[in-house]
Amino acid sequence: MNLILMGPPGAGKGTQAERLIEYYNIPHISTGDMFRAAIKAQTPLGMKAKEYMDAGALVPDEVTIGIVADRLAQDDCKNGFLLDGFPRTAAQADALAKILSDLNMSLDGVLNIEVPDDILLERLTGRRVCKKCGATFHLVFNPPKEQNVCDKCGGELFQRSDDTLETAKNRLKVYNQQTEPLIAYYSKQGLLKRIRGDQEIEQVFQSILDVLE
Ligand code: ADP
Ligand code: AMP
Repeated sequence: MNLILMGPPGAGKGTQAERLIEYYNIPHISTGDMFRAAIKAQTPLGMKAKEYMDAGALVPDEVTIGIVADRLAQDDCKNGFLLDGFPRTAAQADALAKILSDLNMSLDGVLNIEVPDDILLERLTGRRVCKKCGATFHLVFNPPKEQNVCDKCGGELFQRSDDTLETAKNRLKVYNQQTEPLIAYYSKQGLLKRIRGDQEIEQVFQSILDVLE
């Protein structure tokens, strides 16, 4: 399966990605995770990405496209991949089409997780992520069994620095301006699959499997 997960910040892309990559046994390619790893490792890419991420803005296309092109060319993507949070601009979508065609690959579907705006801010500000394995939780909607401890690996949970109310609001604005138009782009290509994201986490997962199988 060659899939894209789309949807506004907080829609549940990372949460569903955790389940989908296990179900289909495919690599999870999250540009946000790649940038956060680069920031942690204090690489030049990380330094550059940080200023944009802290502001809730998009990292420039030329930087982002390059890291995805390198990642998709790796061997483990030959039997499928799940892109999460990429593409986010028209230029990224055009570049992806070229990257895939050069690699003789094509997309099986673009899953668009739809969630009303008022719910998104609540999801973003209550999100907690495991420092060790990256698993995602929510203080209210998906709490860990033990406060601040990851159910999966026992790692410590933290709040992303861009999940403050102010930055989250800006990310939603940026999504509406720059990423939302991609829904029409993939719809025209007959690839778009709409998923209701305002259901329980496991119900959202089942809806995704229903449209894919
Ligand atoms: P994205 O990757 O799209 O930004 P996440 O998967 O990180 O979104 O989810 C954002 C927050 O919402 C997390 O705290 C997550 O636990 C929570 N969440 C995800 N899916 C649901 C859902 N179906 N119902 C309630 N909360 C959810
Ligand atoms: P995410 O983890 O998907 O919520 O992304 C976190 C942040 O990383 C975004 O707010 C952007 O600053 C940056 N980012 C992630 N993916 C992209 C992308 N495809 N294009 C530009 N910036 C991105």
